[in-house]
Amino acid sequence: MTSSPLLHVDAVRKQFGQRVTAAGVDIRIENGEFFTMLGPSGSGKSTVLRMIAGLEQPDSGRIVIGGQDVTDLPPWRRELGMVFQQYANFPHMNVAQNVAYGLRRKKLGRDAVRKRVTELLDLVNLSGFEDRPVTRLSGGEQQRVAIARALAPRPRLLLLDEPLSALDEKIRREMQIQLKEIQRATNTAFVYVTHDQEEALTMSDRVAVLNWGHLIQVDEPHDLFRKPKTKFAATFFRGSNVVEGKLSGDGRSFECPSFNVSMQEPNLLPGKPPAVAIRAESIGLNAPAGVDDVRFNAVLERTVYRGIYTDYLLRLVDGQSITASLTAGPELVAGQSVTLSLARESIVPLQADPL
Ligand code: ADP
Ligand code: MG
Repeated sequence: MTSSPLLHVDAVRKQFGQRVTAAGVDIRIENGEFFTMLGPSGSGKSTVLRMIAGLEQPDSGRIVIGGQDVTDLPPWRRELGMVFQQYANFPHMNVAQNVAYGLRRKKLGRDAVRKRVTELLDLVNLSGFEDRPVTRLSGGEQQRVAIARALAPRPRLLLLDEPLSALDEKIRREMQIQLKEIQRATNTAFVYVTHDQEEALTMSDRVAVLNWGHLIQVDEPHDLFRKPKTKFAATFFRGSNVVEGKLSGDGRSFECPSFNVSMQEPNLLPGKPPAVAIRAESIGLNAPAGVDDVRFNAVLERTVYRGIYTDYLLRLVDGQSITASLTAGPELVAGQSVTLSLARESIVPLQADPL
């Protein structure tokens, strides 16, 4: 017997007019998991989240929570918490009243409510803020109140739709770490929506990449980053090169004028130019022979100083461009011929995108 996952988004489809927003999305989320849906604006992330919440009905497919089909249940009977980009606090209430509001359906006594509010404010690092008016808090603090309120009734699942997007870069980065800590401490499953690749990699146990309503890839951050499955997944992460070529006659190796590598799984679909992904930081420049397996030449077009690292914009013999990012790279001048080197396993074959 296989036990059912905490949440099963079961082959869910949703279309608005001609626009397919969820094209048979299937996701299984386990207890205590931090699961992120990542994709560009309009890829269908919010629609999938809203269907989980019960704010939108799927055209077909089911939402199953803890083995129970909740597709026809209204939002308030699903025992979920939600946090949105706009801090949905009640402006006329103080911090403690806002957090306690999440408990109103629990019918707890006054002391139990106070105890739970104290616990939650401690969890989100707002101890002592009980009597403050929420309108006087910073953006980050307001969002922590919203998170405390959503977690107070111990939801089975917390749904978060771009909760940090309205915050400044510095606060956002701090909050990413705090949110992950809150998730670990409560051991509550989070379903998190963001269009920010770095945010997804920072916080998640697993990430689902969406494009045009299609689930492109579901993987742990490290695997997603190092082993993208399609061209879309590869290019969504900054620093990935996509190099196109062709398959050899026997279909077992990828060839382009610069290099030629045999493939473990020749899983490149026909009809599209076969392509591989190469991460910019996996490329060496003028490294001593023998350091890496694959070596080929390119011409340097220009260098771009990025602070922590430098981008070397290079052109391959067939005209394709490729970028190498190095933290302590060589001094080179534009027009110079350069030897690129990389490990065989950092050349990742890509499949066609489902479109
Ligand atoms: P994301 O959250 O990834 O930005 P959404 O799920 O909000 O994407 O929306 C995906 C697309 O679905 C939108 O670009 C829009 O065209 C369409 N859409 C979403 N909600 C509605 C709606 N209520 N009515 C009509 N179209 C909608
Ligand atoms: Mg959205």
